[in-house]
Amino acid sequence: DTLLILFRHDLRLTDNRALAAAARSGRPLAAVFILDETSEGTRPPGGARRWWLHHSLKALGEDLGRLGIRLILQRGPMADTAMRLAARLNAGAVYWNRRYDPPGIAADTRMKASLRDAGIEAESFEGHLLHEPWRLKTGAGGPYRVFTPFWRALQQSIEPHAPADRPHRLNAADHDVASDPLDQWELLPSKPDWSGGLAAQWTPGEAGARERLDAFLAGGGTGYDRRRDVLADAGTSSLSPHLAHGEISPWQIWSALEAGHELPAGDAQTFRKELGWREFCWHLLFHNPDLATRNFNRDFDAFPWQRDDKALRAWQRGQTGYPVVDAAMRQLWQTGWMHNRARMIVASFLVKDLRLDWRSGEEWFWDTLVDADPASNPANWQWVAGSGADAAPFFRIFNPVLQGEKFDPDGAYVHRFVPELRNLPKRYIHKPWNATAAALSEAGIRLGETYPAPMVDHGTARQIALDGYRVIREEG
Ligand code: FAD
Repeated sequence: DTLLILFRHDLRLTDNRALAAAARSGRPLAAVFILDETSEGTRPPGGARRWWLHHSLKALGEDLGRLGIRLILQRGPMADTAMRLAARLNAGAVYWNRRYDPPGIAADTRMKASLRDAGIEAESFEGHLLHEPWRLKTGAGGPYRVFTPFWRALQQSIEPHAPADRPHRLNAADHDVASDPLDQWELLPSKPDWSGGLAAQWTPGEAGARERLDAFLAGGGTGYDRRRDVLADAGTSSLSPHLAHGEISPWQIWSALEAGHELPAGDAQTFRKELGWREFCWHLLFHNPDLATRNFNRDFDAFPWQRDDKALRAWQRGQTGYPVVDAAMRQLWQTGWMHNRARMIVASFLVKDLRLDWRSGEEWFWDTLVDADPASNPANWQWVAGSGADAAPFFRIFNPVLQGEKFDPDGAYVHRFVPELRNLPKRYIHKPWNATAAALSEAGIRLGETYPAPMVDHGTARQIALDGYRVIREEG
């Protein structure tokens, strides 16, 4: 009576509730990862996440292998593939951890119905959130749209319990189902292989996730409350890609924060609140399935966006002429990740200085971020654009020079990612166009040649953006 367990966004053995339940059952176990890029509404992972997924699957396969389980890899629509496999294994049960993106939920609902129709036990378990998004409701009975009351309710709803144990022994089913060779999926980039910077920075897999958490709790996160805004400081946890792939659960992080650690209480609380933002984004997505494609605030449908592919390309490549924006976009390209403050700066620049539709920025992030997720990415883009739930007001427009001076005061971030400005004195680092001819020449910089002149004048662009906003306010 084989039990088939599905892995999807939960590439871990610890606190994997479906796996823990399967282990408890004592039944012979088969495990599969299904790569579904075709079920209706599914958004296939972008390039950076594909790279991550390859390495994470390798790590998961090895971890399962040590317990005697061979991870089967199959590609195809979730429900059909699972059904076919269950039949082939003559499985009596299929277990999985829930997904919360609307197309994932729809596919899993179909899968559950088909399995049960076929007389196969189908059980789903809490997946990758601290709250099940349908449970928390406002006093009026609807979903939350404002973070602060959501966060209050979330903290109250959390029931402390230990994370599910990592199984030490599993009973492997005897089967000969073939697995796709991982390489055949071609998740890794080639022609060109741009992944060197990613490999230098990240260790995909459960062990890498645990290392990050331990280092953060053992002192790496001390001062988080203040340091989390310093662009050149590695003061944040860098757990986001691990969370996105389910190599660690938010519950493991939350309960580690409850247990002994070195983080001062204030830092721990700010960090918890960031996990709360992640939950809020998933709550929004659950209740607004088209979060990535439609303005949450429909007034923004009338916003006069520009179409300018050349400007979009300059932003994508970190060639805007604003050093902090360029450093951030190059950090993204080189490492697959970008500092949160920098994400806000570049998003504000795209939407307000260039007046390009936030969706074009969201798509670029989707393709290039190792932590791109269908909730946090669009929710944060809409937050910056001003069109989102509980969003920053549109008229709060980041000044890229002042942001740079405040959050990268000695220019270390710009120096790291924009080497052509490396020799520019600190006082000009966020506004090279103000440097004297002598300073530029000494630093070997020719503006417009070795480094771009600013592609827009921030003051003028800001005014045009505000005029555009006035139009939708008057029409709305
Ligand atoms: P830490 O500061 O250590 O925070 C811990 C965890 O809290 C993060 O790993 C993340 O899971 C969560 N978190 C922190 N800030 C936020 C936030 N604003 N919204 C939601 N969750 C948060 N985060 C993603 O995980 N995926 C995305 O696709 C994504 N896209 C973004 C796009 C824009 C325009 C902006 C402004 C932010 C985006 N974020 C996204 C949120 C945030 O920038 C990252 O979660 C954070 O930088 C990850 O680094 P960290 O793990 O070191 O964060």
